[in-house]
Amino acid sequence: MRRIRVVFVLLLTSCGAQGDTRDDLSSADTLRAGNVAVDGEVSNDGLATESGLAPGSQGLTLPASPGASAGADPSARRVPAPDDGGPRTDLPPNELGRFPVVEYHLIGEREARWTRTPENFRKDLELLYSRGYRPVSLRDVAAKNINLPAGTSPVVFTFDDASPGQFSYIEDDGELRIDPNSAVGIWLKFAAEHEGWENKAVFCMLSGAEAGRAFFGNKGIDGQKTEWRHRKVKFLAEQGFELCNHTLWHATLSNYDSDDFVQEQIARLQLAVDSAVPGYRIRSFALPLGEWPKNRELARRGAWTDPQTGKTTAYEHDIVLLVAGGPARSPHDPEYDGMHVRRVQVFGDELTKTLDRLDRERTRYVSDGDPNVVARPAN
Ligand SMILES: [Zn+2]
Repeated sequence: MRRIRVVFVLLLTSCGAQGDTRDDLSSADTLRAGNVAVDGEVSNDGLATESGLAPGSQGLTLPASPGASAGADPSARRVPAPDDGGPRTDLPPNELGRFPVVEYHLIGEREARWTRTPENFRKDLELLYSRGYRPVSLRDVAAKNINLPAGTSPVVFTFDDASPGQFSYIEDDGELRIDPNSAVGIWLKFAAEHEGWENKAVFCMLSGAEAGRAFFGNKGIDGQKTEWRHRKVKFLAEQGFELCNHTLWHATLSNYDSDDFVQEQIARLQLAVDSAVPGYRIRSFALPLGEWPKNRELARRGAWTDPQTGKTTAYEHDIVLLVAGGPARSPHDPEYDGMHVRRVQVFGDELTKTLDRLDRERTRYVSDGDPNVVARPAN
């Protein structure tokens, strides 16, 4: 498998005492070199090697009572999502099925293993929509609150590494506008033209990596100014997108013996997000390269005390994202495990193949349109 390695010169910053010095990039004084591949090399074929939900063989164990709300407060019945008039599947409802958590890295002009062109990204949106998929967030998944019109299916979009191609500005006479060929520009246009396509993509960000992977660009890389970073992060949150932790500078966490180091990497991204969007609570974490820290629990929760300020930052995640593995389990599946959520890397025709397979094997999550009932397929 061809694999593009990107050598980052990584900044290990030394944050000062207060105010905006929480911002990871503002006071870098220590250089640390690292060799960081953009991501792991696991295939998308995880379904073949595990006990997937094969058609007709579901050992379903959820409570069968009518109206069982699967985790919701039973007194608070959810209002069904309105029919958006868009395409849907003819497959029967199956809310124990699987759905793709699609994974993007770079959006750029030349298609490659870790790069999607703007044109192909647009086609991906169109493909998913036309086949009856609608975006949901990881928060929705973790809350077991996938509320979609009947006959549609969830898809979670994830973007790793916060590169400029995902979200860039163009400056015109002092006015900033979103680059229509960046992922966010493409997404917003698509959402405006397609009812039911909500701003629920998930951005798993770095705040202090090199090569522009610091809140979508800095230091003039790809024309992006350092001072635009917080504005971008804030904009995403305001538009409804979900912010996700991918560490400070993409350290391969398995390489470090120190629990404190691991927690610092994670806590400092959270601190940087808090600087941009005060009070924002991150609930999801994407493992850099899919590598676990030696103490795996630290991916889920931990705390780090800044030795300079004495201030402790705690974090806790409902979802930990792997880098590959195929379609994810429904949160209603008894074997759902929020600490190991699989993803589908989008390159070449992998997305089409994944969708074809979900349909062919009838393992696809299909909504029944009623958020208060978990629709199970007939055996
Ligand atoms: Zn990454």
